[in-house]
Amino acid sequence: MDTKSEMKEEKSSKPEYALVIHGGAGTITRADMTADQEAAYLAGLDSALEAGKSVLANGGTALEAVEAAIVLMEDNPLFNAGKGAVFTNEGKNELDASVMQGQDLMAGSVGSVTTIKNPIRAAIAVMQKSEHVMMIGAGAEKFAALNGLEIVDPTYFYTESRWNSLQKAKEKEAEKEKQDAATRHGTVGAVALDKSGNIAAGTSTGGMTNKRFNRIGDAPIIGAGTYASNETCGISATGHGEYFIRLGVAHAIHAQMKYGKSSLADAAADVIQKQLTALGGDGGIIGLDKKGNIVMEFNSEGMYRGWILPDKKYTEIFKED
Ligand code: ASP
Repeated sequence: MDTKSEMKEEKSSKPEYALVIHGGAGTITRADMTADQEAAYLAGLDSALEAGKSVLANGGTALEAVEAAIVLMEDNPLFNAGKGAVFTNEGKNELDASVMQGQDLMAGSVGSVTTIKNPIRAAIAVMQKSEHVMMIGAGAEKFAALNGLEIVDPTYFYTESRWNSLQKAKEKEAEKEKQDAATRHGTVGAVALDKSGNIAAGTSTGGMTNKRFNRIGDAPIIGAGTYASNETCGISATGHGEYFIRLGVAHAIHAQMKYGKSSLADAAADVIQKQLTALGGDGGIIGLDKKGNIVMEFNSEGMYRGWILPDKKYTEIFKED
């Protein structure tokens, strides 16, 4: 384990590889969580980091590491992506995911899919096996099946805790009370730098509890929830997606680095702490630059997050004291 503060120092030597992940941001406080729950989340983050690290250490690509880390979190019911996806107002699970690689700016995404077990793999298939960037709904599902991805019955995504969150959200809506941001959203994401110096970023989510009308958030939108360029950085976002779309958060951080010559840390702090906060949005991002500098910036109470380098790793949920 290590401390975040160490990562604030600009790196003088580039690590051989690096990986940073998140499992969603929101009103996550120590008071609301039992020690067992905390341990389970930390273990989920840790296994995703180890899965990505083993890809990178063996010479795999940043994209493969992002896929490995995200698939583990999609399969873990604790996180709002894949198996743990939240419910829509109609009691369905509609999933969004995206991926981008920094060496050629290739990208892929899927939105509002209901039968693809691992939406991040569908986003990768869109990037690698089609001439498009984004596919949604039934078309995306057909494309995934044609490309051999695992298709599940929509009931696969049922979890009791997410179902209960939907019932609570509906009660609060009826009482016109503000919904609790902790149960309302969540997302998973990963950004990796491989031994060849390539950066990749990916994001996968069930979106926001009680969403309607085929609402799609920032997660599958390239430039909002995900961006990667070898020239600057890779970014994956989590939070109230509408705000992230309106600010083009992931691309805004890239653009401040590219055109304004900002560091990753300064660009992320400006976009999250100033711009997102001023607009009234909550959430955060994880990212890394081509030198392996890592950032985990959020304006919410907490964010499930962690990073791993060849010789160190870090996981945390709450704000640091
Ligand atoms: N950004 C996601 C969305 O708006 C949710 C989240 O990350 O909490 O769909």
